[in-house]
Amino acid sequence: MSNATIIDEKALNDCLNEITRALLQADVQFKLVRDMQTNIKKIVNLDDLAAGHNKRRIIQQAIFNELCKILDPGKPSFTPKKGKPSVVMFVGLQGSGKTTTCTKYAYYHQKKGWKPALVCADTFRAGAFDQLKQNATKAKIPFYGSYMESDPVKIAVEGVERFKKENCDLIIVDTSGRHKQEAALFEEMRQVSEATKPDLVIFVMDSSIGQAAFDQAQAFKQSVAVGAVIVTKMDGHAKGGGALSAVAATKSPVIFIGTGEHMDEFEVFDVKPFVSRLLGMGDWSGFMDKIHEVVPMDQQPELLQKLSEGNFTLRIMYEQFQNLLKMGPIGQVFSMLPGFSAELMPKGHEKESQAKIKRYMTMMDSMTNEELDSSNPKLMNESRMMRIARGAGRPIRDVMEMLEEYKRLAKVWSKMKGLKIPKKGEMSAL
Ligand code: GDP
Ligand code: MG
Repeated sequence: MSNATIIDEKALNDCLNEITRALLQADVQFKLVRDMQTNIKKIVNLDDLAAGHNKRRIIQQAIFNELCKILDPGKPSFTPKKGKPSVVMFVGLQGSGKTTTCTKYAYYHQKKGWKPALVCADTFRAGAFDQLKQNATKAKIPFYGSYMESDPVKIAVEGVERFKKENCDLIIVDTSGRHKQEAALFEEMRQVSEATKPDLVIFVMDSSIGQAAFDQAQAFKQSVAVGAVIVTKMDGHAKGGGALSAVAATKSPVIFIGTGEHMDEFEVFDVKPFVSRLLGMGDWSGFMDKIHEVVPMDQQPELLQKLSEGNFTLRIMYEQFQNLLKMGPIGQVFSMLPGFSAELMPKGHEKESQAKIKRYMTMMDSMTNEELDSSNPKLMNESRMMRIARGAGRPIRDVMEMLEEYKRLAKVWSKMKGLKIPKKGEMSAL
C-alpha cells in the first residue's frame, strides 16, 4: 500500500466518522448508519480521492445518494383522485400531530379544488373532537364527531357514510393516539380500518421521536396497512432522521412534512433538501455551494444580495420563473430549494407546470412596476386584481391563485433572510 493510499484511507475514515456522527445526531437508525459506513467504503473509489478531488464532497455525495435511495421505497403511495371518493385514515401516537396534520391535508386539497371532510374517531382523549371542530371550522371544512359516543368505530363508519352521501371526495378519518404503544390502541386501529376500509392509511410521525421511529412505525404497520408517512414538526430542532426508519418499517414513502402549527405550514416532501439537512450540510450551506458552482460569477453578488434581504417581490418571482423555464443555471439552484421544485414542477407533470408558470407570467406582464416591486402585493385589492385579470385575458380566480403561489414562495424565500454570504474560498474546505 502506498503512502498516499494510507493517508487517503485515514482521510476517508475521518470524514466518514464525522458524517456518521451528524447522522446519529439527526436520529438516523444506528443499524442503518453502520451498514452505510461499510457500504460507502466499497462505493467510494480511493483512487478518485487520491486524485486530489474534494474528498468531503465525494464522500458526502455518496452518502447523500444512499440516503435518498433509502427514502425511496420503490413505489409511490396511493394517490386519491379528485372527484372520486377516497377514505384516508391517519394513525400515530398521541401528540405526533395527527389532528393538526389531518386539517392541513384537508386544507391543502381543498385549495386545489377537492371536497374534503374530517371525521373525528378519537373518543379516547377529552377535547379531541373540539380540537378537530375548531380546525375544521377555521378552514371551512365539513366535519363529523360526537361528544357522547364512545365507540370510535361507530363514529368513523357514520362519518364516512355521511360524507360519501354528500359527495365528498376526500374523507379523512382522525384517530386516537395514547402515549404508549399499547395493544388496545392497535386493536382499535385495526377495527376502525376494517370498518371504514380506507384507501390510504397515513402514519404520522413526530420528527423528534429519535431512535424509537422504527419500532413505532412497524407496530402500526402490523395492525393496519400503512401506505404513506408524514413527518411533523420539521420546523423544530429535530432533523427527522427517524423518517428513514419509518420508510423502511412501512415500505411506504414520506409524502408531506409539517413545518409549523398553522394550517398552511405543510409541504410536499422533497427528498433532496431533507437529506441535506440530515447530513448537517446546513439548511442552506449545500445550497450556497451550488450557487457558487453553477451561477456565473458576475450574477452571484446580485442574486446573493437579493437572497439575504429576504424580500421577495413579484418581480423576483417573475425572474425565477424565467430561470426555471430555461432550466438555466439559476433555475437549477432554485430547484434545490425546499418548496420550489416539488410544488412548482412535480416530476411527470413538467408540461402542465410550464403552462401554469407561463400563465402566471402573462398575468404579471399586465401588472404595473409598482405592483411588481411592492414588498406586500398580498394586499392587492379586488379592483386591481380584476384589471390584471382583464389585461391578461384570464379569470380573476387565476390571479388569486398566482398570488397564493407568491405567498407560498415568499415564505420559502424569507427563510434565507440574513443569510451570511461566504466567499468562494470559504466553502466546505477539506
Ligand atoms: P395528535 O395527538 O396526534 O392529534 O397531535 P395534535 O395534532 O394534537 O398535535 C400535538 C401538538 O403538536 C399540537 O400542539 C400541535 O399544534 C403541534 N404540532 C403539530 N404539527 C406541528 C408542526 O408541524 N410543527 C409544530 N411546531 N407543531 C406542530
Ligand atoms: Mg388528535
